Amino acid sequence: MDNCLFCKIARGDIPSRKVYEDDDVFAFHDINPARPVHLLVIPRRHITSLATVTEADTPVLGRILAVANQLATENGSPDGFRVIINTGRIGHQEVQHLHAHVVGGPDPVGPMLKRV
Ligand code: AMP
Ligand code: ZN
Repeated sequence: MDNCLFCKIARGDIPSRKVYEDDDVFAFHDINPARPVHLLVIPRRHITSLATVTEADTPVLGRILAVANQLATENGSPDGFRVIINTGRIGHQEVQHLHAHVVGGPDPVGPMLKRV
C-alpha cells in the first residue's frame, strides 16, 4: 500500500521510534502516548483492520499478541498491560492499517471504558 502511513513506517520511509521488528511484525512508540507505555504493534504486510482479516492472517495476529506481551515487559509495563485494537468507524479506528495499542506503565490503566 503506497499511501498507507503505517506501511510507510514499517518500510522505514517515515521515521518512528522502533522497539521491535521481524519479518512479519513491526512495533514502535505511539507519537501521542495515552499512558507512560504506549506502543503500536502492526503487521508488516498491509491489513486494513480486524474487520478485513482472513484465515491466512491468523498466524500474524498471534504473533502480534505474543510480541505485545514481550514488548510490554521490556518497555516498562512488566506487571500487566492492555491491548486495544480499534476497528472501523464504531471502534474509532483512525489509521486504516491494523494496529494493536499496547498501553501500560507503573500504574493501573483504569477501567476499560466509561459506561454510557
Ligand atoms: P487508532 O485511533 O486506533 O487508529 O490509533 C492511531 C494511533 O496512531 C494514534 O494513537 C496516533 O497517536 C498514532 N499515530 C498516528 N501517526 C503516528 C506516527 N507517525 N507515529 C506513531 N504513531 C502515530
Ligand atoms: Zn498499510
